[in-house]
This record gives sequence, C-alpha cells and structure tokens, in this order.
Amino acid sequence: MQPSGNLHIGNYLGALKNWVRVQADYECIFCIVDLHAVTVYQDPAELRAKIIEIAGLYLAAGIDPRQSSIMVQSAVPAHAELAWMLTCVTPVGWLERMTQYKAKAAKQESVGDGLLQYPCLMAADILLYQAAAVPVGEDQAQHLELTRDIAQRFNSLYGETFVMPATSLPGVGARIMGLDDPTTKMSKSAAGANHAVALLDPPDRIRKIVMRATTDSNPAVDFENLGDGVANLLNIFQAFAGWTGAQMRAHFSGMRYGDLKKQVAEITISQLEPFQQRYREMMSDPDYIPGILREGAARVSPIANSTVDLVKRRMGLYTEPRP
Ligand code: AMP
Repeated sequence: MQPSGNLHIGNYLGALKNWVRVQADYECIFCIVDLHAVTVYQDPAELRAKIIEIAGLYLAAGIDPRQSSIMVQSAVPAHAELAWMLTCVTPVGWLERMTQYKAKAAKQESVGDGLLQYPCLMAADILLYQAAAVPVGEDQAQHLELTRDIAQRFNSLYGETFVMPATSLPGVGARIMGLDDPTTKMSKSAAGANHAVALLDPPDRIRKIVMRATTDSNPAVDFENLGDGVANLLNIFQAFAGWTGAQMRAHFSGMRYGDLKKQVAEITISQLEPFQQRYREMMSDPDYIPGILREGAARVSPIANSTVDLVKRRMGLYTEPRP
C-alpha cells in the first residue's frame, strides 16, 4: 500500500483483510511502497509519519511480524534497481494504456515520468521475490497483468528468470465504491467529505457518512433491481460479515434503506473498534514499529539481492567475477 492519504474500508476489504488470511498458506512479504507514493508530490514530514501509520495499520489488522515480513520499499534498494532493468524491456505503449495512469495523469498539470513508470516499479516489487501470488483489489488487476507481460518479455529475451505471479482477488469486496458516488471506486485521493470511511474514523463519523450514502429512489432492498449505491452498501456488509449470498438475501430483502444503512454503519463500527484499539497499542511504543520494519527489510534483502544479481548476470551487466 502507498503511504499517502488515509487508508479506507476499500483498502481493508479489498486487500488488508485478505492479506491476514493468506498468511496461513503462504510465506508473505507486505511492502509499504513509499517510492510509489512520491510519483506525486508528498510533504516529506507527512510521508515519514504515514509510513509508520501504515505499518501500524498492517499490524492492527492482524499481520503477524513473526510469520510475515513487513518492510518499506525504499529500505531495500533492489526495488529501484530492478525497476530500472524492467523499464528497459517495457514498451512505453504498454504503460500509456494503464487505466490508473490515464486517470492520475488527467488530474495533473504536468505529468512526472515516475507516474508512467509506476507499473514497472510495481512489477519489480513482485518479481524481486519470485512471488507466486499477489493479493490485491480489482483496480490492481491490470497492473498484475502487465507484470506478467513484463516478466514474459524478460524471460523470452534473456532466458527463464521470473516466476509468473498469479492475481489473487477477494471473493467479496474486491471493488468498494465511493459512498457519495457509487459509480467511482472508493479512493484515498477523492475529495468529497462523505466519500470514504477511513480505518481510523471514530464511530460518530462512520455513522454520519454511511447514513448519507447515495442510494436511489426505491424505498427498500430489491435484489432483482439493485442500484449501484445499494449494491455497494450490501457488498460492504457482506465483506465485513463474511455472509453467503443466500444469507444476505434472506436478511436484507425488502429492508428499508434507512435500516440497511444503520446495519452497515454498525457492522463497520464493530469491526473497526477493536482494530483501532490494537492500532493505538502498536503506536504507543515509538521504537516498536521501526524495529519491525528493520527486521522485515533485513529478512527480505537477501532474496531481493539474489534476484537482482541473477537479472544482472542474465542481462550481461557487471557483477563481481564468481570465486
Ligand atoms: P492503494 O490505495 O493504491 O495504495 O491500494 C492498496 C490496496 O488496496 C491495493 O491492493 C488496491 O487494489 C486495494 N484497493 C484500493 N482501493 C480499493 C477499493 N475501492 N476497493 C477494493 N480494494 C481497493
């Protein structure tokens, strides 16, 4: 995740919740991508604080640092190194076609090169660790596809080097929409005050935002005729509750929108309260998180460095002669 803006329930339901689950089945590396964040200007002091905040949120969500590695992208220089090598095998046309690039570039007066190169750096984050699978929300599926294209191109130019990473999407919650406008993805950078529930929002604010969520002119939930706003509210509830589709229909069919909103607000509050409590505990010792990040970077660096070494040898870049 990028340490910019406030993490919201879309980040949690689309990615973070899934990450906690996959820890049991995979050796996991969770990265805080500060180099990605600076593809648009960040206030340096805020960025520094955000990196620690995001690590605190990972831990509060249940990422176990004894089992998984939590690290900051810029603390492992191999990320930037491999990104350059991948940039050199990536046609500009592939990058210009990325939906996220087009959307972000449209908002800027002058478009930084980093914004275009963003997916090459993301490919490096993944390919450095020869990752088997990457758990992301739906908006990142296109970047994952590009990662496989870049890996394939590299492999065909220089010989089998990279493992093809699979995209792992959550069954429910892969795309949470804005509460004020359910036709756009919930996003950290959206301006509206009622757009997103942030993970650290207090209960009264959560209630206010959810109760104001855009719905439609129907009075009650009709599963045969769901508007975008109501579908989004149901999706949020289902992702938090872990209910089946049948349970959702049995419980919500015919429910008035006001009552639906109350239930969405209450389940959001009840799941975020213990999470926020754990976050405060994590943040109470100023040395705790830097220690976790240092350990994470030390644990993953040998893997990252050995991939960079392999890539350099494949490309004919200079490496020390082997003894
Ligand atoms: P970012 O906000 O770009 O740092 O994304 C961090 C993670 O959250 C990525 O895996 C995204 O796919 C996921 N994500 C971001 N926004 C949403 C959303 N509205 N719904 C579901 N997942 C999301």
